[in-house]
Amino acid sequence: MDLDVLVIGAGQAGLSAGYFLRRGDRSFQILDAGQAAGGAWRHGWDSLTLFSPAAQSALPGWPMPAVPGGGYPPRDAVIAYLTAYEARYALPVRRPVQVTAVRRAAEGLQVEAADGAAWTARAVISATGTWSHPFIPDIPGRDVFAGPQIHSAHYRRPEDFARKSVLVVGGGNSGAQILAEVSRTAAQATWVTDRPPVFLPDDVDGGVLFDRATARWQAEREGRPPPPPLGGLGNIVMVPPVMEARARGVLHSLPPFARLEAEGAVWADGSRVAADVLIWCTGFRPALDHLAPLGVVEADGRVRVSATGRALAEPRLWLLGYGDWTGGASATLAGVTRAARAAVAEIG
Ligand code: FAD
Repeated sequence: MDLDVLVIGAGQAGLSAGYFLRRGDRSFQILDAGQAAGGAWRHGWDSLTLFSPAAQSALPGWPMPAVPGGGYPPRDAVIAYLTAYEARYALPVRRPVQVTAVRRAAEGLQVEAADGAAWTARAVISATGTWSHPFIPDIPGRDVFAGPQIHSAHYRRPEDFARKSVLVVGGGNSGAQILAEVSRTAAQATWVTDRPPVFLPDDVDGGVLFDRATARWQAEREGRPPPPPLGGLGNIVMVPPVMEARARGVLHSLPPFARLEAEGAVWADGSRVAADVLIWCTGFRPALDHLAPLGVVEADGRVRVSATGRALAEPRLWLLGYGDWTGGASATLAGVTRAARAAVAEIG
């Protein structure tokens, strides 16, 4: 056996696992496909900022430095924090290593990389996030639309859409934030959402949502009635650019269209909106291709796991950071600590 524990992915989830492993005496290695530290934050758009203050966005052990002058940390501050975090705890990250397969071995699990390298480990923590698997719904006419289509995963800046007619599809935080800034440069920006978007009150940010989720978790553990939910982590946080878009009167959405045609979208009642370009803000799916040889990935693209993220069908595998199904708020900086601590404690 090469190692006690192999962690796949060195985003915020993999680093949190590394922190708890570092405190024990198990041998471990973290493999990461990225060219440098920062996980998905390296790929966020230019203006992307956290929707929680630095004080509520810390990984275990070390607070994120506050933003000089106040405000929410921008994307580059998160990348700098994750880079420094890796160095501070001397986490053994090896990159770029693209893991292609995890298989059952005579003892433990075998982890294989694209360059032919392979390791065996007693336990594997998969923390590969979702960014590399953007999701676009299968809408009729998608292949007929004549203009470019991009996913929010690859969106960079509003200047790229100057004087264009843009359709922004998706009612989450990405859709709202991209609509807010694209509507400043585009000739026309139309927002299309599945349901009417749910805007949180102006004074409820990610930090408040996280505190409320923690209070609910504690109440459930202690058998008390949980406080009422304030809104989900998927609801739209009124960050300053979204408030500005509301003040400009552009924060309105249309219901889903029936199909796309070459020049734009068509609704069931025959109404049409012309578009030069389409931005899909329709979310992501867990990046779990490397687990295919284990046969644990279900039809919905997830793995059935216990409360600690342990795969029910493979007891040497843990999943970390993919969303609430791998631990409440585990896809957030502040929320992943609880899930990482539980997984590493169980590995022992
Ligand atoms: P990632 O950050 O995606 O890290 C996964 C790592 O695994 C990457 O480095 C990748 O290269 C690597 N990897 C993937 N596949 C393989 C493989 N096969 N082999 C080896 N390595 C691999 N969260 C907050 O806490 N606060 C916020 O304010 C916030 N705002 C957000 C706003 C937007 C618009 C979006 C889209 C997300 C936001 N998030 C926020 C969520 C956050 O960005 C992600 O949930 C988070 O990056 C997930 O961390 P992770 O470590 O699970 O995955």
